[in-house]
Amino acid sequence: MSNNIIVLKFGGTSVATLERIRQVAELVQGKKRKGFKVVVVVSARAKMTDALIDDARSFSPEPSPREVDMLLTSGERISSALLAIALNARGVDAVSLTGSQAGIITDDDHTNARIIEIRPARVLQALNEDKIVVVSGFQGVSFKKEVTTLGRGGSDTSAVALASALDAEVCEIYSDVDGVYAADPNVVDQPMKIRELSYQEMQEMAEAGAKVLHPKAVEFAKAKGTIIHAKSTFVPDAEGTIIRNLEGRIKPRIVGITSEEKVILARCRDEGHAGVIGRLVDSFAEANLKVKQISFSDIGDGVTSGNFIIPEKENYHIDSVIPRLEALFPGMLHVSRHLGAVSLIGAGINDRYDFLRECLHLLKTEGLGPASLHTTSFRISALVPRPRVKETVGLLYEHFLRPASLGDTGS
Ligand code: ADP
Ligand code: ASP
Ligand code: MG
Repeated sequence: MSNNIIVLKFGGTSVATLERIRQVAELVQGKKRKGFKVVVVVSARAKMTDALIDDARSFSPEPSPREVDMLLTSGERISSALLAIALNARGVDAVSLTGSQAGIITDDDHTNARIIEIRPARVLQALNEDKIVVVSGFQGVSFKKEVTTLGRGGSDTSAVALASALDAEVCEIYSDVDGVYAADPNVVDQPMKIRELSYQEMQEMAEAGAKVLHPKAVEFAKAKGTIIHAKSTFVPDAEGTIIRNLEGRIKPRIVGITSEEKVILARCRDEGHAGVIGRLVDSFAEANLKVKQISFSDIGDGVTSGNFIIPEKENYHIDSVIPRLEALFPGMLHVSRHLGAVSLIGAGINDRYDFLRECLHLLKTEGLGPASLHTTSFRISALVPRPRVKETVGLLYEHFLRPASLGDTGS
């Protein structure tokens, strides 16, 4: 039976100015008037997290991850308190809670913690007292009672994890775009909006750079079957995109093209069974480096070759870690920092060769390498020069998806 709880999440652009916080308060009040018990999750105001990271880096190239978390969580705290104040000013009973107060328990992996449990007693109590609960996103508390953050874009994860723990009817994610598109609407001119996506497709799109939802958020939704509705704060009546269980109901298709502008490709060659790859992995762990993909193979004659793909944005200390690693493995580690990743996403994308062949042909014709390419059952990802990432997204979109734009990308 429905418990009438809904979770609404507003990202940084939605709370960027006081006027926007006022608009968000109005939207939230409207949901309450419709009879819902409302939990709101908010991000830090636009650019605040980046500015705080820059402040930390101005003192040290590798600030303590614990202190970084103490610093960054303040951004979300400001937004939640301001929204609660704005709601109160409209005569609406609302209370703000930090992630810790909301019962979001994480592991102790500072700057990239994982939610391991939610104890929502305090949230439920406030809802039962007819209050709107405004939770600071992107944060939790470890069993050691340390404040943690959930990785860049992590307020989506807070919202979906809370929605799952509360058995909410839906988790509405509000941002500056009115749904998930077949390509970033800020990169491709008028791409198709996707009406419905499976959890797996959305997770792959998110992991491959579609910022509109965090991949860990989708993981939580999938585990519990929580429905996500991606919507626009500025055009709240627009239809948006529904992410739910569609498994087994979709044909092989390309559903979207995504990109990550800044990834690092580290290649390693271990000649003579020196255990370099193992030592390198140890060094990554010691340096608290987040690595996206690791692959290595024995190519004969005692030579092992390894490829590591490292996202720049989530590694706050990358500028000092890379030179340190290069010095530790002289002549063995080759690092390229001029690349970005472009991916084709869709269920069963590798069931047939045509998508891969056409993709390779197109990249070759345009002189776009690729520097590296890998496939999974949902994805074809290629690394291309950073300044040409957007252009590559456009080319792939025009080739694979624009011709279908009169059709339907819904299931
Ligand atoms: P918020 O700050 O609200 O969390 P984000 O900036 O994280 O919002 O995510 C919204 C942004 O995601 C949009 O401004 C858009 O540029 C980007 N984006 C990237 N890929 C897509 C896509 N496929 N569909 C929609 N938006 C996308
Ligand atoms: N404020 C955090 C960030 O900028 C979390 C979020 O916006 O979801 O990454
Ligand atoms: Mg976001």
